[in-house]
Amino acid sequence: MNFKIIINEVFERVEALPQKGELATYIPQLAQVNSSKFGVHLSTIHGLNYGIGDYNDRFSIQSISKVLSLSLAYKLVGESIWQRLGVEPSGTAFNSLVQLEADKGIPRNPFINAGAIVVADILLSTLKNPRKDFLEFIHTMSPHSNVNYSKKVAESEKKIGFRNTALCNLIKSFGNIENKPNKVLDFYFDICSLETNCKELSDLFLFFANEGCTNIDQNRILTKSQTKRMNALMQTCGFYDESGEFAFKVGLPGKSGVGGGIVALHPGKYSIAVWSPKLNAKGNSYKGIKFLEEFTSKTEMSIF
Ligand code: GLN
Repeated sequence: MNFKIIINEVFERVEALPQKGELATYIPQLAQVNSSKFGVHLSTIHGLNYGIGDYNDRFSIQSISKVLSLSLAYKLVGESIWQRLGVEPSGTAFNSLVQLEADKGIPRNPFINAGAIVVADILLSTLKNPRKDFLEFIHTMSPHSNVNYSKKVAESEKKIGFRNTALCNLIKSFGNIENKPNKVLDFYFDICSLETNCKELSDLFLFFANEGCTNIDQNRILTKSQTKRMNALMQTCGFYDESGEFAFKVGLPGKSGVGGGIVALHPGKYSIAVWSPKLNAKGNSYKGIKFLEEFTSKTEMSIF
């Protein structure tokens, strides 16, 4: 399989497509991003690393961070975490409030905002220094990465975070938030503000393709079973109300963020990160999905 040739071909074709979609302007800081950026990076478990375009440029990973925060909470709390979070695709937008009332404050899954807010609460209750400990956990996945919080982005989101505030308060009213809502929200916005580039992102997610161990030093991050479950959740819930379509067109577990990043992986083979900031109506990167759809078609390699 010549991944490089396929990536180059698909990149060229998708780059030439008209720029459809919108930036995530509801977060003022994300409205400033250069919308023509486009980068891809692949990391295979056999050691191939290949990037093209703006793969070294840093961007806001936003909801991709929900996979990382859940991984740490799952590691710390174990299976009892599922008493506070569901594992069903929501079929609703990432910031929707509609199901929470009927579900009595138990978010449908950890990858919608409601679920990630509960995960932030769990980490706040469990960790001594939540911000520092979370970052250290990320560095165990990829010791040389420069992933870090962006104060600018977090502050910018905090100013307009009315929906997330509503979500957090509603969940709190059902008793599924332990800490003070403003503390939980501050941590949630910090988690969303994490910045990295495609190269580091595909490297970070490689352990999900490697049965829960880092590739270089075989450091165990999650158990095999936990890793399979995380991948199942990414497959079924990683793209909100576009998760079915992503499984249908791309056929890989993955996660998107409103910063325009998508990371996807093939268990036993590779992880791949794509960044193109303009989003489709579901809040997922327009060109990111196009690229991955063509990539898995050309390689004839999806998990199905
Ligand atoms: N920080 C964003 C929000 O809470 C994350 C949304 C996303 O990336 N889908 O609205």
